[in-house]
Amino acid sequence: MSKNQNKTGSYSFFNCIEKNFDKAARFISIEKGLLEQIKACNSVYRMHFPVKIGKEVKVIEAYRVQHSHHKLPCKGGLRYSMKVNQDEIMTLAALMTYKCAIVDVPFGGAKGGIKIDPQTISSENIEKITRRYTSELIKKNFIGPGIDVPAPDYGTGEKEMSWIFDTFLSLRSGDVDALACVTGKPISQGGVRGRKEATGLGVFYGIRELCHVKEEMYSVGLDVGLVGKKIIIQGLGNVGYHAASFFHESGAIIIALAEREGAIYNKKGLNVSKVFLHLKNNGSILNFPEAKNIENTEKALELECDILIPAALENVIHKNNANRIKAKIIGEAANGPITPEADEILDKKGVIIVPDIYLNAGGVTVSYFEWLKNLSHVRYGRMEKKFRENVNAEFLKVIETVCKKKISIEEKKMILRGPREIDLVRSGLEDTMINGFHKIRDIKKSLKIENMRTAAFVLSINKIIDSYEKLGIFP
Ligand code: NAD
Repeated sequence: MSKNQNKTGSYSFFNCIEKNFDKAARFISIEKGLLEQIKACNSVYRMHFPVKIGKEVKVIEAYRVQHSHHKLPCKGGLRYSMKVNQDEIMTLAALMTYKCAIVDVPFGGAKGGIKIDPQTISSENIEKITRRYTSELIKKNFIGPGIDVPAPDYGTGEKEMSWIFDTFLSLRSGDVDALACVTGKPISQGGVRGRKEATGLGVFYGIRELCHVKEEMYSVGLDVGLVGKKIIIQGLGNVGYHAASFFHESGAIIIALAEREGAIYNKKGLNVSKVFLHLKNNGSILNFPEAKNIENTEKALELECDILIPAALENVIHKNNANRIKAKIIGEAANGPITPEADEILDKKGVIIVPDIYLNAGGVTVSYFEWLKNLSHVRYGRMEKKFRENVNAEFLKVIETVCKKKISIEEKKMILRGPREIDLVRSGLEDTMINGFHKIRDIKKSLKIENMRTAAFVLSINKIIDSYEKLGIFP
């Protein structure tokens, strides 16, 4: 049994991340103890609390982990799943630290989890559990706009974030910044436009950027650009659905979609919104009229394609299936979908892996925008939209006079428009993902690093070292 495997033979997720960290540390010359400090999880809060469900009292197991306090507040999602355990939440918190550093989001990494299956619990009981969890966090000072700010993750969404905010506000009444205690809220509760689709859109921007680099595409025998690329997506939840929609709209061909119950396949391409409607109406993606069913959902990962996007859970590509993966590019939309052993196999096969610590950072980037919006108490674009429209109108008048030509009403509408919140959020996200990609690629090239994951860790660790140094903690 390798050092990275626990007693049950399955992987310790935290050790997997440590392994990736250590590979990157070879390219960084700094005292070992300081690297150990960056790797370590600063605070782990494991809790049990009782909740009355029906006539029974159930003891709920839950966690909040703050991996790093080098920047505050800490930031990270909250997941609801029966697979939640301390190792998983510690790992996801660590990933958040590295992720935030890569995209220049000034937060330390955190993560929370409650061990429940939200699919088998009523909404009323999920609300009770969420509210109780929040009050436990408040009691121990593990939540707050300047302390630790949760967000949605696997099994949670806007509804849960609203309950967290409402519970926080009722126990901290009068806190003018209370809205910033959690992100991923509905717009009417202080959310920001564009947060829901942010992670999926970030995945799209990251992969699009890669597909525009000739050198990278030629290295795996593909043409430049996204149009016509064959894509498989695992998980049609928040991240997977939005990523699939943006890829579909851009002219890529979604040939397979995989969910828990099975997968569907059509080599000519699936219409993502029609599949989503079918899923909503039938509770399953199977038996979609324009596709073939694949009963064993894991087999969908092994189909011939250009790009594979795992967007469900961790460790889905492992040593037993890595050799059968035919994708030329894997975009890690989920956190930790590839085990270290599989990573090595895929590296040897020449597959380009776009790592989670970069690719799914769109969610935390837009969460950062939401947090800033909540602290500034004003919607993005509110102050400048009309001003910009007036300036544009004057500008157009000058152009029409100088060119002696009338601009059409349609063109005018497009040029005159001042920026709305959604425009600003999306442009901030696009810029962040494009910059992040090129910073990683520059490090990969300059240090002659073999893959994007190690280069991304080098970039991230260097930024964390820099902030510790500026804090005066590392000499
Ligand atoms: P979600 O709960 O909205 O969706 C997950 C989907 O995966 C669900 O539709 C579920 O049915 C499906 N699924 C579960 N098991 C599966 C299996 N064995 N095969 C195929 N599909 C399966 O969760 P999400 O928010 O989309 O998160 C997905 C991944 O992305 C997680 O790893 C999460 O940590 C990561 N992530 C999410 C965000 C975010 O903003 N939501 C941000 C960064 C990373």
